[in-house]
Amino acid sequence: MENLLIPIGGGNEIGASSYLYIVDGVKILVDSGIRFNVKEPYPDFELLKSIAPELDAIFITHAHVDHCGSLHILSSLYPETPIYTTHETAQLLSLMVEDAIKVRYIKEKSLDEWREYRLLDEALARIERREFFDTVTIKDVEIQLFPAGHILGAASLLIKYGESRSIYHTGDISLQSQSTVGSAELPNSKVDLLVTESTYYYSDRRFNREKAVEEFYETVVRVIERKGKILIPVFALGRAQEIILLLTEGMRLEKIPPMTVYVDGLAREVSNIYENLLNRRLFNYYVQPAPTYEGLDFKEACEENLREADCIISTSGMLMEGTPSYVYASFLAKNGKSAIIFSGYMVEESFGYRLLNDRETFKSFKCKLKKHHFSAHSDRDELREIVERLFPEKVIFVHGYPGKEVKYHGFNREVIRF
Ligand SMILES: [Zn+2]
Ligand SMILES: [Zn+2]
Repeated sequence: MENLLIPIGGGNEIGASSYLYIVDGVKILVDSGIRFNVKEPYPDFELLKSIAPELDAIFITHAHVDHCGSLHILSSLYPETPIYTTHETAQLLSLMVEDAIKVRYIKEKSLDEWREYRLLDEALARIERREFFDTVTIKDVEIQLFPAGHILGAASLLIKYGESRSIYHTGDISLQSQSTVGSAELPNSKVDLLVTESTYYYSDRRFNREKAVEEFYETVVRVIERKGKILIPVFALGRAQEIILLLTEGMRLEKIPPMTVYVDGLAREVSNIYENLLNRRLFNYYVQPAPTYEGLDFKEACEENLREADCIISTSGMLMEGTPSYVYASFLAKNGKSAIIFSGYMVEESFGYRLLNDRETFKSFKCKLKKHHFSAHSDRDELREIVERLFPEKVIFVHGYPGKEVKYHGFNREVIRF
């Protein structure tokens, strides 16, 4: 029997991740993400329906919306199919998908927001939660969940089929440990097909976490010493919690001065869930959820928070217009002593990208702009290490923009036989 992999999204791109595997006649869909693109936000569900009118199982690797943002639409197309993910992802996912619907509705008023929330409720009710290293059996195929590092709850999947054949689907993966999550754990058994992310595979960028942390602390010290304010725009899930723990640790080790830090936007809600899941406090005397004020509108509340706090950590990470971080940035723009510290990836359409790359936008900001590179993804060396350690017969890269080395890259809608 022919075995197939078809990326119906998230092949040669970052966004709308969704991969159909057909092994020994069993149809498994891994992930159901969205793109930050209003015109075509979803994976190609039409193609999916035509190839697989029925699915045997749906797996969600983690709660970033490029992997789960369209789960409610997918689940409405396959109302009988079980959905599997880890406990952590199941909890984080509901908040993240709900927010993605909200954000889409702001941009696209024709969206039937309430229908989407109803579909999300139905999808959430069908999720079957599993622990790491649990095995799910679908007919003659066994799927085991491995820790992928990256963010809390992120899983890689070992899919075993036939006479001792296996596929390893990494999802987003990191071999470096972070403050909130350890490194990925790879299986010891042999792998025939490795399907891995390639976010930074085609880039020369290397991630040295210790160096990034030291440089980040140096920037913080400089701004606080000259009595400026700091804004750190962050992704709500993963990066925000890393930055919170880094600042707390920096103060504890006296690498940065004690200061008041407020966490705002979706980052505040996600951090509350992280506290429960990690059974560890993220908020403390110095780092607090941004207060809400009765009688103040959103802008006034941001202004008040900037008066009270030395540092604000807020979503969105890319300074998208209309988000809390954008409002904070517009206040800080007038103050030459203050700084905006970026810590992650930015798409070209975002205001953050324009601010760092467009002279005119840049000139309108008096505050300092600084970028420090943190990553929850493997760089090229780490990805090569994963390939070396698993020593597969065949490698397919997905979740990236292929550069010169396209020999092993899986493109959207491509039928890959193995
Ligand atoms: Zn991710
Ligand atoms: Zn991703």
